[in-house]
Amino acid sequence: MRSISDDRTFAEKRRPMGFKLEGKGCTLVKSELLSQFKELISCCSTRKGGVSEGIYESMNLGFSNGDDPGNVRENYRIICKELGIEPSQIVLAKQTHKSNVRIITKADLGKGVTRPVDYDDVDAIITNRPMNGPSPVLGILTADCVPVSVYDPKHFAIGLAHSGWRGTVQHITAKMLKKMEEVFETRPEDVYLSTGPCICKKCYEIDEDVAGEFRRAFSSEDCGKILCPGTEIRKYRADLAKAVEITALRAGVKQENIELQDFCTACNSKLLFSHRITLGKRGTLATFLGIR
Ligand SMILES: [Zn+2]
Repeated sequence: MRSISDDRTFAEKRRPMGFKLEGKGCTLVKSELLSQFKELISCCSTRKGGVSEGIYESMNLGFSNGDDPGNVRENYRIICKELGIEPSQIVLAKQTHKSNVRIITKADLGKGVTRPVDYDDVDAIITNRPMNGPSPVLGILTADCVPVSVYDPKHFAIGLAHSGWRGTVQHITAKMLKKMEEVFETRPEDVYLSTGPCICKKCYEIDEDVAGEFRRAFSSEDCGKILCPGTEIRKYRADLAKAVEITALRAGVKQENIELQDFCTACNSKLLFSHRITLGKRGTLATFLGIR
């Protein structure tokens, strides 16, 4: 059994908001907001508790970044044991920084983990709990981008989005909520939304062209909350999670039902994978969401 006392000490010292670290075999990040729903399987992985080595150390959950596939499969086995599920229950998105939403059914079980995916350009996935048995466990991969978990307890529907800057300026969270409304009759005012570990405003510096994309996608008042000056002229810092929150509020999600986990991938790059800090030489975190 792996000790996580170091991580616990860290978590307590920083007085983090919106999440807690848990796990016996491997360390997991759990949303405080979504933890109130005992029927949910909800977490983000950390680097701790896997078998991958080198730049992938140790809990890498990405098959496409050059790691030994056998080690990645073993990492899925370990984390699934911790969650009380099988790898064949998971369905991954196929992320390309676009804003397409796919409805996931039982026919998709295992895709991205135990079976190849047969879809592309899918950065948000939604599903619900069928009459007979648990829902598929949705999964998305991140390392600085924002994982957005949404739960509609009235209709037992869930949605999971990958929201980097491109997804964020395309309002992928609003598109996912709209699709959940069409398919599952989800009302935005009923949902609970949590953003998982992602790069913080202090660590996320962007150029003028990306700042311009935010100005096109959000009002100037909203941009006042999302953007601030960077270290140099024509550089900016962007608060991706805040931008996701603004999109969610505009879509009708209640403020009190939104949680922005205060856990930066770059500030905590020993515990989490950060694309920025490693210049892309890295493993990948996974966020999972399912209904038992
Ligand atoms: Zn940071």
